[in-house]
Amino acid sequence: MSALYQRVAFIGLGLIASSMAHAIRRAGLAGAMTGTARSAESREIAREIALVDAVFETAAEAVEGADLVVLCVPVGAMEAVAREIAPHLAPGATVTDVGSVKQAVIHAVAPHLPQGVHFIPGHPLAGTEHSGPRSGFAELFDNRWCILTPPEGCDPTALQRLQALWRGMGANVDLMDAPHHDLVLAVTSHTPHLIAYTMVGVADDLRRVTDSEVIKYSAAGFRDFTRIAASDPTMWRDVFLTNKEATLEILGRFTEELFVLQRAIRQGDGVLLHEYFTRTRAIRRGIIDAGQDTDAPDFGRIRQHGAE
Ligand code: NAP
Repeated sequence: MSALYQRVAFIGLGLIASSMAHAIRRAGLAGAMTGTARSAESREIAREIALVDAVFETAAEAVEGADLVVLCVPVGAMEAVAREIAPHLAPGATVTDVGSVKQAVIHAVAPHLPQGVHFIPGHPLAGTEHSGPRSGFAELFDNRWCILTPPEGCDPTALQRLQALWRGMGANVDLMDAPHHDLVLAVTSHTPHLIAYTMVGVADDLRRVTDSEVIKYSAAGFRDFTRIAASDPTMWRDVFLTNKEATLEILGRFTEELFVLQRAIRQGDGVLLHEYFTRTRAIRRGIIDAGQDTDAPDFGRIRQHGAE
């Protein structure tokens, strides 16, 4: 594929930026790539593994001459970054981001950007529990969704180019307005993460079951919560601080459902429990049919010889 952008600048060089850099290189989507990270250590690693063509000390330097700037820092750091890069952006450049919450990022970034720069917020629905410049891989976005939330009156050519970039990186692209994005993600990602954090926290409190028992028998279900609960604490703190309303709304619904199941257990209402679990099983089937997870037993984990 031919290059869609002459120079792509990444602000932040963690999991998402490094995966984008690998995917862009895989498909030849950019003439050159630059980047910067907050710590000297991350910048040094990025240089060592030649993640991008040039690593700069500051975001201001990294965006010079870039026709695409991708903000890949935690949501709470977006405003300071936007303020820093604004005077250095090339006229006609596109600025996008990968933040997990969209309304808060728009409020934080848009007011700082100069006229003539196109701001098209985005969110790839792909990730792992790993962080940093070494954690990325080119396949992360393959067959995953990337949601873009273009503002009203967004330049159609700039939007098409960004859509083509995500498709070139292997993703499917959907357009949505920012409030709807935040609600959808509260259901599909933010609240489930909070529940996983809680479940792992609860197990940590149960003194009648020893820590070694929790670890030893974790394959019975707990282990899958622990993977989610190992996600980056800064990123997830920022998600809950900035997608407050939607998360609280869905959490309220969750609590109501939990009480329904709690009562069914207390009253021995097997019919309700069976119907409920049949419905949830169908949702799982839908996710597999849509190619968003594997049907292999135990999520495709490789079974050790002789292991149960
Ligand atoms: P990451 O691996 O932890 O990388 C974050 C990057 O941002 C690092 O380069 C870090 O620099 C830099 N950074 C952290 N705090 C900063 C600050 N206060 N000022 C400036 N730079 C700062 O994170 P990630 O997973 O790539 O996440 C980046 C963005 O993608 C977040 O907005 C997140 O919501 C979004 N996202 C994440 C996932 C996921 O599953 N991980 C999925 C979709 C979207 P140092 O390395 O020097 O600390």
